[in-house]
Amino acid sequence: MNKFESYCTKFVQTIGAKEGAVSPAIISSASFAYGTPETAEGIFNGSVKKPLYSRMGNPTTAKLESIMSEMDGGVGAVATSSGMGATTLATMSLLSQGDEVISIGGLFGGTYSFFAETVSRFGIKTSFFDVDEFQNIENRITENTKIIFLESVGNPNMRLPDIKRVAEIANKAGVALIVDNTITPLSISPLDLGADIVVYSTTKIIAGNSSALGGCVVFRAIKEGEDKFKNERYPFLHKFIKNAGKMALVQNAKKRALRDFGMSANAHASYQTILGLETLALRLPRVIKSAEIIAKELSKNGLNINHPSLASHPHHQRYKNDFSNGCGTLFTIDMGTKEKAYNFLRKTKLATITANIGDSRTLALHMASTIYSDFDKETRRFLGITDGLIRVSIGLENPQDIIQDFLNAVKE
Ligand SMILES: *Cc1c(COP(=O)(O)O)cnc(C)c1O
Repeated sequence: MNKFESYCTKFVQTIGAKEGAVSPAIISSASFAYGTPETAEGIFNGSVKKPLYSRMGNPTTAKLESIMSEMDGGVGAVATSSGMGATTLATMSLLSQGDEVISIGGLFGGTYSFFAETVSRFGIKTSFFDVDEFQNIENRITENTKIIFLESVGNPNMRLPDIKRVAEIANKAGVALIVDNTITPLSISPLDLGADIVVYSTTKIIAGNSSALGGCVVFRAIKEGEDKFKNERYPFLHKFIKNAGKMALVQNAKKRALRDFGMSANAHASYQTILGLETLALRLPRVIKSAEIIAKELSKNGLNINHPSLASHPHHQRYKNDFSNGCGTLFTIDMGTKEKAYNFLRKTKLATITANIGDSRTLALHMASTIYSDFDKETRRFLGITDGLIRVSIGLENPQDIIQDFLNAVKE
């Protein structure tokens, strides 16, 4: 049974209560009363498991975190205010001045500028590689390398990584591997493939209908015996390993990022996200099938489509072997020129023009003039952003309706 089938049962059964209110309670209180000074002391030293203050954790958000952690086989999760908040939490809880990051693939525009323009201001250097540059990636690892960051699907270049092989490189060198699995929840299980930390923008297919901004980070357990986080590369983790054992990565992230940066999720967004999870396992396979059908038909009609299900795609074989549960909702159309791309966007009646992805509705956006507008030519070329590139995120509509609409929209 694939994960879609098992999670059709698991999500709804875990989310709904069998007694009392069926739908999860939204506890929007920012603070929590401790009752007695002894309880206060216990909550602060961790011996009493009750909420401390909503920046550090909230009961509604905790429900979301436990479901997300279970979904990925993690030991714990931390939900955040956005997907970028998740990336910030995961990375900044491990980085110090002088450290180096290796970033592979895609790359989502916000993540690219986070590493290239923002984190670089704090003395952290990031090197960028294509997914298949295995030797260059291995050669670039130094004693200062703390993170290898990888997107499960290139957004929007649609290149697919060999996650297992990158994980082998990371594990051999003793470096943390973080995978942004926003586009492929349930389809890909990064921790099973050897990653250490998984980040999500839950804003996308997980919430699924533009109702809530959010993110989540799932952490693996620290192993008993040998574990790369026990080595000299991560000395600041050792005290967390001593005190929190297998939960060390979660505790470190909560202290070093959530408490001090405050990218905390709010209860209302967590509730909306939980509702999204209820139907994720139903929606995702439909959209994956539709994306394949639509990509194939548009390609047959002469459109320049980039999707790994097409035999012409350089990672078609990897798609069949390693991505048998699909690679999400996206494909791109290269219209050749900005003018033709704009014409298409003006004429489509079904696609909503927006920067989001993974929505119930089909979405489309011209890349060069929007998300990548302040990137120079060289960077755009590296990220695969051509002048006529449109990114499409397929929704729940009937795929034949989308095909009809898109073929009408490309007519002169
Ligand atoms: C959207 C997105 C993000 C950022 O998420 P936000 O919720 O918008 O902050 C990060 N990674 C990927 C792959 C995304 O698509």
